[in-house]
Amino acid sequence: MDSLPYLDQLIERFRAFPGVGEKSARRMAFFLLQQPTPWVESLAEILRGAREHIHPCPICGALTDRDPCPLCSDPGRRSELLCVVETPEDCIALEQSGVFRGRYHVLGGRVSPLEGEQIPPERLDALRQRIQDGGIGEVILAMNPRVEGDLTAFTVQESLAGLPVKLSRLACGLPVGGSIGFADRVTLHVAMEARQPFSSEEI
Ligand SMILES: [Zn+2]
Repeated sequence: MDSLPYLDQLIERFRAFPGVGEKSARRMAFFLLQQPTPWVESLAEILRGAREHIHPCPICGALTDRDPCPLCSDPGRRSELLCVVETPEDCIALEQSGVFRGRYHVLGGRVSPLEGEQIPPERLDALRQRIQDGGIGEVILAMNPRVEGDLTAFTVQESLAGLPVKLSRLACGLPVGGSIGFADRVTLHVAMEARQPFSSEEI
């Protein structure tokens, strides 16, 4: 069969997506080619619109189509609580969980010596500046519970040294609905270390 350059390019583009291999990329390309023309045109329009309008909020770094974003401008959120996350996706996950009603600061990177990754220095500078501007009482480090998350948290902690702010880090341990019997050693260790006071009055 002759090569079809457009099909090859489609597959190549889909393969660039995270977690998509050759087979999935091929399926996505064939799916796309089977859709009616208006569907494909509207997808192209959505892609163009998303690229054009969605950008990092100049204050917190979350993805938004407004300046500043609703997370920064909502007067109902607690401005004295600042949750530091690695990526804009982390903001979305925390928002969907509904567990946090403060402000955010997206680092836009993490510390990973193996993969040569660092936190962009300008995002650390911006974090320091936000704290120096006042009004923030507690910085919550919401890093992933793995080695890179630990290194990232330590780096943020170091860069905030001397600033008048309380630092905390998300507790982690047993997943809700999980089972102690299936938890790995590290998870159990962290769960034990992050144990909370418990009394019958709280039940
Ligand atoms: Zn924002």
